[in-house]
Amino acid sequence: MQIAKNTVVTLHYEMFDADNTLLDKTEEPISYLHGGYDGIFPLVEEALQGKAVGDSIDVKMEPDDAFGTPEEELVRVEPLDVFPADVEVGMMFEADDPETGDVLLFRVTDIADGKAVVDANHPLAGLTIRFVAKVVEVRAASADEVSHGHAHGEHGHHH
Ligand SMILES: [Zn+2]
Repeated sequence: MQIAKNTVVTLHYEMFDADNTLLDKTEEPISYLHGGYDGIFPLVEEALQGKAVGDSIDVKMEPDDAFGTPEEELVRVEPLDVFPADVEVGMMFEADDPETGDVLLFRVTDIADGKAVVDANHPLAGLTIRFVAKVVEVRAASADEVSHGHAHGEHGHHH
C-alpha cells in the first residue's frame, strides 16, 4: 500500500541540525494521519506521498518549514518574585498571551540579578533541520480517524 490521503503512516525518524548533529530520534515509532491534517511537517508529508513500507526519505527544512524562526516578543524578562522559590533554568511555565489569549509554554533560559529570562520559542526554532525517516507501516485510516483528523492506535493519538 502506498502513502496517500487518508492513510495512517507509521515511521521511525531521526532529526539532525545543519552540522548533522543528532537532535532527536524515535525510540518507538510514531503514527500520523496523512493528507494535510497537520500531523507532521508539510515538507515531510510531501516527500512521503506515494512511498511504501521500507522506503526512506531524507528532507532538509529551513527554519520556517520546521520549528519556526525565533521571535523576540516570545522572550520576556520577569522579576524572580513571580516564580516559585525553587525556580531554575530549564523549568517550564504556562502563561496566557495577552494579545491572542493562547496559552504559551515558557522555558526559563537565564536567571540573574533578581530576574528570570523566559522564552516561549520552540527550543529548535531557528534551526535548519534534516529529517530522515523510514516507513514502518501504511494502512487505510478508519472513518473515526478521518473525522478526528489524527491517527489512533498504538503509536497514534490516545483519548
Ligand atoms: Zn481521535
